[in-house]
Amino acid sequence: MIEMRGKAVSDRIKEDIAESLDAVIKALGRKPRLEIIRVGTNEADASYGRSAIKKAEAFGMSAGLTSFPSDISYESFEEHIRKKSRDEDVDGILVLRPLPPELLEAAERGLSPDKDLDGMTDINMSRLFQGQEGGFAPCTAMAVMRLLDFYGADTHGKHVVIIGRSPVVGKPLAMLMLSRDATVTVCHSKTGEDILREQLSSADIICTAVGKAEFLGPEYIKEGAVIVDCGINVSEEGKLCGDVDYEAVKEKCLMISPVPGGLGAVTTAVLCENLFKAARIKVGK
Ligand code: NDP
Repeated sequence: MIEMRGKAVSDRIKEDIAESLDAVIKALGRKPRLEIIRVGTNEADASYGRSAIKKAEAFGMSAGLTSFPSDISYESFEEHIRKKSRDEDVDGILVLRPLPPELLEAAERGLSPDKDLDGMTDINMSRLFQGQEGGFAPCTAMAVMRLLDFYGADTHGKHVVIIGRSPVVGKPLAMLMLSRDATVTVCHSKTGEDILREQLSSADIICTAVGKAEFLGPEYIKEGAVIVDCGINVSEEGKLCGDVDYEAVKEKCLMISPVPGGLGAVTTAVLCENLFKAARIKVGK
């Protein structure tokens, strides 16, 4: 069994950025700058925001976070994002999701596609659905592809089962997998238990984005499956864990990503990669 740890992938992304970071800083006259926008008091958002800032700084870039109360108006929220989109000193913006539907709409309206690091605007989503190069895809979905690529897990011609259909993880991941020639099944909360079991029993690659601690046990998977666990949950014992019952499943897998230690580090590294890409495009490097 190969444990797909995220740090090695994150280090590789950092090295790639470092190759041309100085040239981009010189052309910009400053470090590439990330702005994170958060609404409400969700602790998971705060923690993701903190690790994204830490990662951007460790990668030689800069980042800041603005928090808004959950009763901020549509107009004020849109205006703030529009202002950051126009700000010459900001290269990329991450609006933390989920958001209430009206604020999500305000964010999508105010956000420049050129700074939309998490691929939430219509233009970037359309590029993703059409399989076009360029633009930005949601970071977690991209991180799954990066992790699989790094550890040499090929998707071409494989049966990939994604559990979860959110616009942040499951849906964009399905599009990325299709563009890499996988045959994709997307399961969700309304998928019957018999169908879920049948699909998983033939899955070469399983990606879980459910948000339920240790949801997936060994009885679901075939011998030699590759599993990417996107879940970030807290177990009954108060420990951070994924959607997969890691200890019970690991010996049955060819490869598996742990939680913690797996995808999370890759997601923040991909966010930095997208920030760097936005800055490069801006200065034509
Ligand atoms: P959502 O709550 O938006 O989506 C969860 C999905 O799981 C939904 O599509 C839901 O189905 C499905 N689901 C729920 N229960 C079941 C079930 N019993 N059987 C099958 N499917 C089920 O979550 P997110 O996509 O935002 O996040 C998923 C997980 O990934 C969370 O743990 C989150 O913390 C983590 N995450 C990790 C990131 C990372 O960088 N590693 C980044 C973002 C999220 P339905 O649509 O029918 O409701």
